[in-house]
Amino acid sequence: MSNAYFEIREPENEPVNSYAPGTPERKKLKDELKKLSSETIDIPAIIGGKEVKTDRTVDVVVPHDHQQKLATLHLCGEKEVEQAIEASLEARDEWAAMPWQERVAIFKKAADLLAGPWRYTINASTMLGQSKTCYQSEIDAIAELADFFRFNAYYLTQIYQQQPYSPDGMWNRTEYRPLEGFVFAVTPFNFTSIAVNLPTAPAMCGNVAIWKPSNTAAYSSYFAMKMLKEAGLPDGVVNFLPGNGADVGDPALASEHLSGLHFTGSTETFHHLWKTIGNNIDHYKTYPRIVGETGGKDFIFAHQSADVDALVIAALRGAYEYQGQKCSAASRMYMPKSVWPAFKERFVEEVKKITMGDAGDFSNFMTAVIDDKAFKKISEYIDFAADADDAEIISGGGYDDSKGYFIEPTLIKADNPKFKTMEEEIFGPVLTAYIYEDDKFEETLEICDNTSPYALTGAIFAQDRYALNHMADNLNQAAGNFYINDKPTAAVVNQQPFGGARKSGTNDKAGSAANLMRWISPRSMKETFSPPKDWTYPFMDEE
Ligand code: NAD
Repeated sequence: MSNAYFEIREPENEPVNSYAPGTPERKKLKDELKKLSSETIDIPAIIGGKEVKTDRTVDVVVPHDHQQKLATLHLCGEKEVEQAIEASLEARDEWAAMPWQERVAIFKKAADLLAGPWRYTINASTMLGQSKTCYQSEIDAIAELADFFRFNAYYLTQIYQQQPYSPDGMWNRTEYRPLEGFVFAVTPFNFTSIAVNLPTAPAMCGNVAIWKPSNTAAYSSYFAMKMLKEAGLPDGVVNFLPGNGADVGDPALASEHLSGLHFTGSTETFHHLWKTIGNNIDHYKTYPRIVGETGGKDFIFAHQSADVDALVIAALRGAYEYQGQKCSAASRMYMPKSVWPAFKERFVEEVKKITMGDAGDFSNFMTAVIDDKAFKKISEYIDFAADADDAEIISGGGYDDSKGYFIEPTLIKADNPKFKTMEEEIFGPVLTAYIYEDDKFEETLEICDNTSPYALTGAIFAQDRYALNHMADNLNQAAGNFYINDKPTAAVVNQQPFGGARKSGTNDKAGSAANLMRWISPRSMKETFSPPKDWTYPFMDEE
């Protein structure tokens, strides 16, 4: 019985552990790293709550020590996708009919499990599997994910409260139904929080989901599935299907029951998925909702009045934290000639102090990039810049994959604002700066706006308020998340809802009411208390 309006108050953001020396959290996390490193596990698919092993497997290794194996990952294909679709549809009716407060309670519980007993397992598995420092892992896999669970629960109640006007004699109501069918969640390697949010946000609204994690993030994703089970998520609501892209994607997108795609990853993959949905449009029972957050070529634009010290720190953290593997990472810079010498001197001095190595060694600021493919791609960009006549490597430029996939934090100076590394997403610790004449401020703003197809994040730096206002206006469409005198990364749930437009995605802002609305199909209901008994109208009466 639920004869009450249940309330969810606006939550607080999950506090972030510092893991400073001497703290008990540091010891617990180190112990967990040791424990996880000492064993190799199997990562099966999870279909209808059952663990399913397949005959195709791949090793999951530690990117900063690629000889260390963490797991054997079982890869899915058409057969498992069919089983998962069946299992999800079987679970759907009961799940969709469950009172919302019961559904939401599961995710509120998951947030508390994550912030409590599961904290160190989820953090350590992200550190090992995705090569994050303890702090980068904490802000992603713990704080942001707990925030997604808690704030989505809050936003959902805000949506459910929105009801239409009812004049006398009738009652108008809006019911916020889940979509019919299943949502296909396809997730990237670089954020555990995003990976878990993409299937669970639709699930919170009453949908069922098939989750294809990234193979290189499947280790932390699998622990998250176990945590969700402990939180009480019923079997079949989220089905976990690791596998190579098209092996899972093609059969899932071919199903007539596809009701939505919740994607985060590269623009190229999103284009492919969108086109596939377009080609299959005649088969679907409903028009699938398509939500995608994709690539970026995020900028820092400095004015001549910029505070150089602030700029140096923003550029360093923005470009190199998590080895530049954030969709929001700063990767191109526009710097006035008058500011460049002071910036360069201080930046190069600071970058020399950056420590890089094993994620388990807490003195490191950076670790390795995700895998051999990323290593090859990033090092090719560096080689290209090293060989180019119109570019110069100012710092870094080295790479070494003998133990792990390590790439030095690199700064390139490009003479041409359309130089390859000013335009293309590299997804590694490579920042390119273009130096403009101070009196070419206006033209350079225009170049910044037009250089890349993306519009995800961007930052402007100035002390002059007129300049800030002018830059914000001129770059109005250049970024979905825009920063003033701050680095372009590190969006926080409920503070800076995240997402970009142009070729950076559909800008449905993960972790917001706007995102949840995409997984809802409202039903408008009108009830008339005293229906008319006569079909004629007064205008028809005789004069
Ligand atoms: P990716 O596109 O290589 O892979 C993303 C997911 O798509 C993976 O799970 C992959 O296996 C899957 N995939 C690939 N082909 C598929 C197919 N045919 N069918 C079904 N699934 C398929 O991206 P990635 O390397 O994992 O992540 C990095 C990218 O993600 C970068 O471009 C980054 O900018 C972007 N990203 C964007 C945001 C954002 O919010 N805008 C956040 C994080 C990452």
